[in-house]
This record gives sequence, C-alpha cells and structure tokens, in this order.
Amino acid sequence: MSTEPDYDVIVIGAGVQGSFTAYQLVQRNQRTLLLEQFVLPHTRGSSHGQTRIIRKAYPQDFYTHMMDECYELWAQLEREAGVRLYRQTGLLVMGPEDSQSFQNIKNTLEKNQVPMVVLTPDNFSRHIPNVRLADGDGAVVDVTAGVLYADRALKTAQDQFRKMGGVIRDQARVTDIQPGPVVTVTTSAGVYRAKSLVITAGPWTGRVLDHVNLQLPLEVVKINVCYWKEKCPGTYAVTKRFPCFLVTECEESKDDIYGLPSNEYPGLMKICYHMGSTTDPEQRDKQTDRSDIHILQRYVARCLPGLDPEPAVVESCMYTLTPDHHFVLDYHPEHRNIVIGAGFSGHGFKFGPIVGKLLCELSLGEVPSYDLSPFRIRRFQGMSQSSL
Ligand SMILES: Cc1cc2nc3c(=O)[nH]c(=O)nc-3n(C[C@H](O)[C@H](O)[C@H](O)COP(=O)(O)OP(=O)(O)OC[C@H]3O[C@@H](n4cnc5c(N)ncnc54)[C@H](O)[C@@H]3O)c2cc1C
Repeated sequence: MSTEPDYDVIVIGAGVQGSFTAYQLVQRNQRTLLLEQFVLPHTRGSSHGQTRIIRKAYPQDFYTHMMDECYELWAQLEREAGVRLYRQTGLLVMGPEDSQSFQNIKNTLEKNQVPMVVLTPDNFSRHIPNVRLADGDGAVVDVTAGVLYADRALKTAQDQFRKMGGVIRDQARVTDIQPGPVVTVTTSAGVYRAKSLVITAGPWTGRVLDHVNLQLPLEVVKINVCYWKEKCPGTYAVTKRFPCFLVTECEESKDDIYGLPSNEYPGLMKICYHMGSTTDPEQRDKQTDRSDIHILQRYVARCLPGLDPEPAVVESCMYTLTPDHHFVLDYHPEHRNIVIGAGFSGHGFKFGPIVGKLLCELSLGEVPSYDLSPFRIRRFQGMSQSSL
C-alpha cells in the first residue's frame, strides 16, 4: 500500500480565510483539499453577506502596511476572474478629536501617506450632507477605502481554486485530527491525509483545536446586522457617492459603530455595532440580546436624520474575538505542519488575500512576508484559557 498522502495540504473551513489560503496553495502547485462542514454557500459563519468595508485606516501601522499589498491582490483577483469585487467609496472616520482612538487612526493615515481628506466642522456638512458631526468630533476620510462585494469575492476565490485543480468537499465536518508527519483528518464524508493542515474554522476554531489539544482564548459573539430605511430613498446611496463610515467612540458607545452606503438592499443602509454578545456557534440564534440595537437606535436618531431610527431588517453574523482583537496566524506550538488562522475579531475580510498568502507561506515552511509577532500564539501565554 502506498504511504504517499492524498494531498499536500488540507484546509479546514471554506470561509474567506480558508478559501483564500486554498487558492494561494493551489497557485503554488500544492495538491489542496478544502473541507467545509456545510453545503456551500452558507450563512452560518462569518463570511456571508453581500458587503464588507475595505480600508487602510487603522490605529496600527502593521495593518495599514499589509493593506498596501492586499489592495493589489484584490485587484489581481478581479483581473484574473474578470469580476468586480471592490468599489471605492472612501471611509469617513469620526470620533472625539482629542481621543486616542481617533488620533491613532489619523496619525497612521498621515504617517503612511494614505490619501486622506481632513474635514472641519465648517466644511463637514458641505461634503457629507445628512450626517451630524458631534461637537468636539474630528472627521477624516480615508480616500482609498470602499466596499468589497463579499459573497461574490468568496465565490470567486473558490471558483479560481477549483479551476486550478483544487478540490472542495462541502458537507464534510471534521470530527477528528491525528497529527504526525502525515496528518489524518476524519470527516463526516471520509478520511483524508496530507503533509500539512491549515485550520481556518472561524467561530468553530475552539472545537477543531480540541482535536489537536490546543486551547486559545477565543470568544464568539453574535452580531446583529442592521439595515435602516432611508426616509427619502437614495439619501445615503453608494450611487450618490456616500462613503462608508466608522465612529471610533461617541456618547452612545465606547465601541466602534460602522456603516456602509445603501447598496445591496436599495433604500436600506447597513449600520452595525462592532461588538456583540457571547454565543455558541451551533446555537447562534438563541442569543437574543438587543442592547447593541438600542445603542444603534440612539446613535441613528442623533446623527443620521435621514434614516428611520428603527432597523427594517436584522440579519445575523458572528465575530471570533481574541483578547487584543489581533488575528492568530501561527503554527501549532507542537506540530509545525499544522497552521492556524483564527480570531479575526470582526475585521478580517479585507485581509483575506494577504492572510491566505501568509498561511500558505507558513504551511510551506517559508519565512512569512510580514512580521507576524502581533499574531503569534505565544502572546497569550499566562492567560487563563490558554494551555500554553
Ligand atoms: C456583521 C459582520 C460585519 C463584518 N464587517 C467586516 C468589514 O466591514 N470588513 C472586514 O474586513 N471584515 C468584516 N467582518 C469580519 C470578517 O467577515 C471575518 O473576519 C471573516 O469573515 C472571518 O472569516 P473566517 O474564514 O475566519 O471564518 P468563517 O467565514 O466563519 O469560515 C469558517 C468556516 O469553517 C467551517 N468549519 C468550521 N468547523 C468546521 C469543521 N469541523 N469541519 C469543516 N468545516 C468547518 C465553517 O462552516 C465556516 O464555513 C465582519 C464580520 C461580520 C460578522
């Protein structure tokens, strides 16, 4: 009997991170299997929905640096597949002028020479009608930012992966992993073997990592994805060049509030609270806390007078949070041929192509293209949930 494994790499989880990792691996001539527990496409994880924000506006330089290349990778995929995935809208960042959170983003944009426009209380409403800027708030626009067509992007990455010879097995839930020089992965649909394994299981990461005896301090929260009706349809429309926006803090909340121009549902603008309540991914909809919606209602009533301050549609999604809200991109501490991409903390979609590239590099044993120290597992050492 041959001892040659079936695949070079198995990737667990066909969300944005697993799909882009698989796509990168197949481009590097790796025989790659992408496993997904549900029938594709599905709405049970973190990557579904029609839109996401893409931006360089970050408090930390390292994300802004990664986004420089990431925009290129998105554009490459658009060209390769002949599909439009990105629409530039700009991102309006608002927050107390003297606050750390607002100043950090503004400084990162300036330092990295990201095209930006600083708005003043005097000229704000000329540029951004129908938004009330609070007294003492600053406003700056990251001009490069925009909307990613998320569902389309996910499908495009998976289609390109398949076209290049990659194999996707959906309805294949991983139920066991045997580490070793050849990793054996047991699923509800069959048993597969590979030289290395990438785990990108989103909110289910904790469960999958149990099979390889690793605990990470990850918290899964449910996000209420709220769409708000324009009193006059088109007021905040993408076609009228209304930007995405991010509020770093405001009188209603210390956590971010963000929004996208009305687009996927004409006449409805998506505005969400960047935090949710703890949930079990298997029982997401049993979490019925609406305190985030109440915060949003007060914010919308105060600052967005063109919207009805009652959400017209509420959908569900999940974040997988790390304590510092930075990603996990690392090897398993005991098995170098098992690589983990997790804890994307509600801001990972835009990074899909670069995360895919980095996880691919790790699984090939290459030096990663970026300094991964902010993303290493060892930063959790000594934390209560960690077994490290
Ligand atoms: C409401 C909302 C808004 C967001 N907005 C933005 C934004 O504007 N910009 C941005 O950059 N990011 C945003 N994000 C974050 C971004 O969408 C996530 O960081 C990203 O989708 C995480 O992808 P993932 O591949 O890690 O997880 P997932 O998409 O959840 O993928 C994991 C996959 O693994 C599969 N899986 C799990 N366990 C198993 C198993 N045992 N066997 C087989 N398969 C398994 C799951 O079914 C799932 O398909 C947002 C997220 C939400 C929820």
